Amino acid sequence: MSRRDFLKFTAAGLGGCVYLGANEKGLSAELQKEKEEKIIYRTLGKTGIKLPVITMGVQNSDNPNLVRAALDAGMVHLDTAHYYQRGTNEVMIGEVVKGRPRDSFVIATKESLPKNRITGRYREGATEEAFLRELDISLKRLGLEYVDILYHHNVWTRETALFEPILKALEKAKKEGKTRFVGVSTHRNEPEIVKAAVDSKVYDVVLTAYNFRQKHYVEVRNAIATAAKAGLGVVAMKTIGGWSPEWQEHFGGLGASRGPYEDRSVDARAAIKWVLQDPNVNTIIAGFTTFDQMKLDLSIMKDSILTTPEKSHLQRAISLASLYCQGCEQCLKSCPAQLPIPDLMRAYMYLYGYRNLVEAQDLVSSLNLPANPCGDCGSCPVQCSNQWNVSERIRNIVRLRDVPFEFVAGSREAAGRD
Ligand code: SF4
Ligand code: SF4
Repeated sequence: MSRRDFLKFTAAGLGGCVYLGANEKGLSAELQKEKEEKIIYRTLGKTGIKLPVITMGVQNSDNPNLVRAALDAGMVHLDTAHYYQRGTNEVMIGEVVKGRPRDSFVIATKESLPKNRITGRYREGATEEAFLRELDISLKRLGLEYVDILYHHNVWTRETALFEPILKALEKAKKEGKTRFVGVSTHRNEPEIVKAAVDSKVYDVVLTAYNFRQKHYVEVRNAIATAAKAGLGVVAMKTIGGWSPEWQEHFGGLGASRGPYEDRSVDARAAIKWVLQDPNVNTIIAGFTTFDQMKLDLSIMKDSILTTPEKSHLQRAISLASLYCQGCEQCLKSCPAQLPIPDLMRAYMYLYGYRNLVEAQDLVSSLNLPANPCGDCGSCPVQCSNQWNVSERIRNIVRLRDVPFEFVAGSREAAGRD
């Protein structure tokens, strides 16, 4: 991205926002005070759902009190998925929302079936029935009769986005009242998937990775504009673009002992606000895991205007290394073993960026890797567009396969954020 483009984009206005007051009761004094301030809402496309610009991405949190506090403070949209925390994420959310009026929260979950990690195509057994079975399990875990948004999870080819059995399953789920709306989520090849969603005439919402670090962010922005024009709701994720050790070092330290969260999260605030400058983004998923992080995200929910220092900060940050895989697939052509390198790099980010061992291990375990990945190569010919030494990262991350489940399951305390 050129400096000129960047400045032009960050200078864009916040058109399309509606300001509404809060009206829930029974909050702690502090949260009540915060909630009384104006929350910025945007409408999720043709669904008509009005959402705060910040959604809680529950993926990295297993603390029900944090989810409760988020709802009490005015966040209404909780984003989860069938496989997050091996299903316990949906169970936890179900416990939190039990007893709350059904129209006081919005739940999104995601279903997927096994895919070939290189081609992105579904494997045998990916049927309408199988997808709907997954949804029924999710509803049972959540203790709900329906979710508000049901996503076709993690798609990166047009063919898969338009895979007929899944489209039929989504339509059936909607018809049977098991979901109000349907969407598709994508971490890579985002413009193609967003455009496929528009063409499908089935999807109501797109959930896409979108951040200032994406080398193809202009294409993502244009695809989002097309989707918004067609009436689709747009939810953004991966808005921080992966934690960067160099970045954190540069702006205030790596660990809690080296300064308060606020000090090292200037980057998170700026990065999230950058995405919200795009009026076609209706809400962004913030994967906070601590109360301090939540407070920061709540502040953005009430003031998302990017300041001049924040713009300068992002301009400097672009040139620093990060853990964010661009999903450009350049690496795939030169790996003779056809390892699913983008997925492995995402697992690496889950581990070292989000410190989420469970998701990292689950992702690595789902990839059907050979016994000794990279073990047969004398040297690695892969040229990563991020200039990463991918074989070193792969050797590092695949060790997670050997970590006992008991250890991984108890490791979430130190989790980072998305
Ligand atoms: S070292 Fe690993 S990533 Fe590199 S080419 Fe060999 S198998 Fe592929
Ligand atoms: S080349 Fe690098 S940035 Fe691109 S998909 Fe592969 S690992 Fe990710």
